[in-house]
Amino acid sequence: MTILTQLVDELNAGSLKIVDLTQPLGPDTPVIGLPPQFGQSPGLTMEVVSCFDDKGPAWYWNVLHLGEHTGTHFDAPVHWITGKNLPDNTCDRIPVKRLVGPACVIDVTRQVAANEDFLLMPDDVLAWEKQHGRIPRDSWVLLRSGWSARTDETSFLNVRDDGPHSPGFHKTTSELLARDRDILGVGVETVGTDAGQAGMFDPPFPNHSTMHGAGKFGLASLRNLDQLPPTGAIVIAAPLKIVGGSGSPLRVLAIAPS
Ligand code: MN
Repeated sequence: MTILTQLVDELNAGSLKIVDLTQPLGPDTPVIGLPPQFGQSPGLTMEVVSCFDDKGPAWYWNVLHLGEHTGTHFDAPVHWITGKNLPDNTCDRIPVKRLVGPACVIDVTRQVAANEDFLLMPDDVLAWEKQHGRIPRDSWVLLRSGWSARTDETSFLNVRDDGPHSPGFHKTTSELLARDRDILGVGVETVGTDAGQAGMFDPPFPNHSTMHGAGKFGLASLRNLDQLPPTGAIVIAAPLKIVGGSGSPLRVLAIAPS
């Protein structure tokens, strides 16, 4: 029996499952807002081309208008100025082997429930590794924060007078993961891979800056991370092959033990 026939058998037997880590994508999908001096990415709009009518009596299809970074989406290295000159840094050029990798799921649900501005520290990573083993090279590190339980836009974006509040990574943690552990990238349940307040950090948005500068990727607005074990799942995260694309909405799937 080959490993692939065994995979199909285990899926059919239910000892392995496919977990959908993706938010629904529609006009209500929340989009990150930036300070007003910056360009804004619009939410998704859909326009019917035809729906079994005069414009197409036997077929139904839509036109989509949306930003690359809408809903559950992929960040390519070219998304950030630190990664703009790296080789193979756009959605169409990333080697596909790098779109599949093992998942390390770090559960900080309890910490985030107590502090919505929680930042993952290097010590948190080391404590996780003490329990689950060293984070392997070319793995996805997924921050399970419980944030995806916030299904309405207001509590998901959580913007107050002083800006958005949501969890993320301390700069030194991003450096550890990108440089020392040499991971594929990080995935989060929040609207972006930096903490809500990270626009005011030094440097601003340190996770984007560090990860993309090291040629690493990002996955934002994930859900169902509670269905994954700390180790042992495989993530498949393939952005659309947009020529020159800085990111893309995508369907993120995990293969996990049941
Ligand atoms: Mn993004």
